[in-house]
Parts: sequence; C-alpha cells; structure tokens
Amino acid sequence: MTSHATTEPVDGTLPANPVEEAHADVPLARLISSGWLLPTGVAGLLGFTAKFESAVSALQETLTRTHPTGTPGPSFLAPVMPRTHIERAEYAEAFPHLLAAVHALPPGTAQSTMPGEDARMPTEAVLTPAACYSLYPSMADRTLEASQYFDVAGSCYRHEETSEVGRFRSFRMREFVAVGTEDTALSWRADWMERCRRLFTDIGLDVQVQAASDPFFGPGARFMRSSQLQQSLKYEFVAPVCDGDDGTAIASVNLHKDHLGLRFAIGAPGGGPAHSSCAAFGLERIVLALIHQHGDSLADWPAQLGRVRHAA
Ligand code: AMP
Ligand code: ZN
Repeated sequence: MTSHATTEPVDGTLPANPVEEAHADVPLARLISSGWLLPTGVAGLLGFTAKFESAVSALQETLTRTHPTGTPGPSFLAPVMPRTHIERAEYAEAFPHLLAAVHALPPGTAQSTMPGEDARMPTEAVLTPAACYSLYPSMADRTLEASQYFDVAGSCYRHEETSEVGRFRSFRMREFVAVGTEDTALSWRADWMERCRRLFTDIGLDVQVQAASDPFFGPGARFMRSSQLQQSLKYEFVAPVCDGDDGTAIASVNLHKDHLGLRFAIGAPGGGPAHSSCAAFGLERIVLALIHQHGDSLADWPAQLGRVRHAA
C-alpha cells in the first residue's frame, strides 16, 4: 500500500499513528509497533508487514517439507466459493454467525447512478471459511477410483468480532486432506497427529494437544458436540500467541468420518461413502506463536525455519 510505503522505515517497523494508538489492546499494539502487523482500525482485520510475510513463507516451506511423500507446495484456492457448496456442507447450520456472504449490485443496475448500500443483493458467492471446503465439491456425485490426497492453502474469512490477538476475520490456512476409504482417513489423521507434534517441537514451539468439539456436523450439532468429544474427532494444537494468552489453537487435526462423503455423495473406492480427514494450520497464528516464543529478531529463530534467517 502506497501510504505505508512512504512512511515505513527501512527496518519495516511502522511509526506510531492515530489508528495504532486507538488500539487499547496492548499485545496487539506491541505487534504493530514492533513491525509485524498493519492496523486497519477494524477489529480482527489486519495487514502483514514484509517481515511477517517472510516468516509465513518460511513456515510454508517447512510445512511443504513435512509432507510424507513430498509435494510441490500447496494449490492456492479462491477466497470465495459458491454458496451452494457451503450449504451442501451444512457449514451455515453449524456456524451461522461466522459465515459471510458477498453482496453486490444486481446485473444491469445503472452505472451512471450511485445506488445506496442497501441496493446490494446477495450473490452466489460466500467467503471461504476453511480451505478444505472447496475440495469436496470437486469430487461430488461420483465414486473415487482411489483415495485422494490434497495439499491446499487459501485465505479464509470468519466473522469474528473481537480484537483479541490471533482471532482474525481474514486469515490464511494450509491444509493436508485425505478423502477415500475409512482406513485412509484414519491413518492420515493418526500420521498427521504425529507429524504435527514433531513439527512444532522442531520449530521450538511448546504445544498442548487438546481434544476439542467443533460442530461441523450441522443440524443436531449440540448432540454431536459431546459425541464428537467422546469419539475424539478433533484435536487442537494449542500454544500462547501473545503475553497473557493461556493458549490458542494454532492447528487442528480433524476426522470427519463419512459426513462430507455423504453430504457431497462421494463414493469411497471399494464401496460405501467416502471418509475424510484433514490437518489444518493457521499460518498467522503459528507465526504469532513463533514471535511470542522466539522474539522479534528473525535471526534468533530456529534453524529449521531456514529461509527466515536469510530474510532477517
Ligand atoms: P478450525 O477449522 O477451526 O480447526 O481452524 C483451523 C486452524 O485455522 C486453527 O487451528 C487456527 O490455527 C486457524 N484459525 C481458525 N480461526 C481463526 C481465526 N479467526 N483467526 C486466525 N486463525 C484462525
Ligand atoms: Zn479441513
């Protein structure tokens, strides 16, 4: 952004400005003044400095190396997706407050007039709430010949109304996803649990692993929430992302059973509905946890995040 380009000092830190001063939140103000985040003045909406982005790139490369069979890197998915797809996944039933939709002027609205904001109508697009939701529609209404594995990343949006550090509205997610037989989904989940533990140890993050509930099952979610905990379908890797934080989920490993296979009519190889599982990494939250753990100087960060040292 030009306005930052003209005022940003060489080391990437931003000078104090009125927007920054308006942030009562001390950890957030510290991250802004130490050159990591760019404020917008709206809670949960932030930009990222070049220094922050060099950490994201190093993390992305580390995640690519973590993949068992190698991957050229993630496919980058669109930040918006068809409303019909997210409805078929039943996301809106489970998280009505988090889903946001694109509104725009209807086609043919006169371009010479300036219509009021209320003239904007819902379009066929919603903002993608999690990267893996864009994958299942591509396999819908057919039987898979073999289990499928994906490495994807994308910008996600959840309508969080808080300025809590790490709870963004717009953030990026990297996901490793398996869709196929029940065995495939189970072993993918088990292997990624182990890989996550090793990865976070390697990059010097002390994480707690917690069973979590997350009603991705749609209607009946209240019942499923306790059942999900009992069945241990979701595990979160939790670490502090700023001073005073008891712990925030920086990644999750999820077993969806056949929920998405049934919703999207995806057949498993060999018969029955497809099962799926995913390992999801919140890129901004992991970088915040790294900053909290290793400090503001990239040169002090672990060698496993190799590229970051050159960027320092
Ligand atoms: P979930 O699908 O809720 O398990 O999210 C996967 C990962 O995305 C989480 O473990 C976080 O690291 C990240 N994430 C989820 N919500 C947010 C948010 N509001 N802001 C930043 N990162 C998030
Ligand atoms: Zn997922």
